[in-house]
Amino acid sequence: MNKNQDHSKKVSSKSVTGKIALWRGIKGTCPRCGQGKLFTSYLQQTDHCDYCHEDIASLRADDGPAWLTILVTGHIVAPFIVFFALNETYPAWVMMSILITIIIALVFILLPRCKGLFIAALWLIKQKSER
Ligand SMILES: [Zn+2]
Repeated sequence: MNKNQDHSKKVSSKSVTGKIALWRGIKGTCPRCGQGKLFTSYLQQTDHCDYCHEDIASLRADDGPAWLTILVTGHIVAPFIVFFALNETYPAWVMMSILITIIIALVFILLPRCKGLFIAALWLIKQKSER
C-alpha cells in the first residue's frame, strides 16, 4: 500500500471511543485511525499521522509522560526495596545492581507508552472541544 495515500476521508474520529483511543496511544499508533505511528523514533513525536494525516504535532505531552513513568515505576520498585531492606542476605552492591536494572528497564518500557497515552488523552480532549 502506498504510504502517501490520503485515508483521512475514510477514517472518522466520531466512531473512536475514549478507551480505543487511549489503547491506540499506549500501542504508539494514531488515536484516530490506529494505523499510523505516533513516533518517528523512540520518543520523537511525528508531525502528523502518515495514514489519516491527523495533526499530532499540536498535541504536546510535555512532562506528563515522565511524571506517570516515575509514578508507576516507583510503585513497582517499592516492594523490592522493602524486601531487600528487610532481608540483608545479599551485599548492598548486588541489591543496588538489581534495583537499578529493574528501574532502567521499566523506564525504557513505560516512557513511550505513557507518552502515547498522554497524546491520545490530549487528542480526545481536543476532539470533545471541537464538537
Ligand atoms: Zn491516523
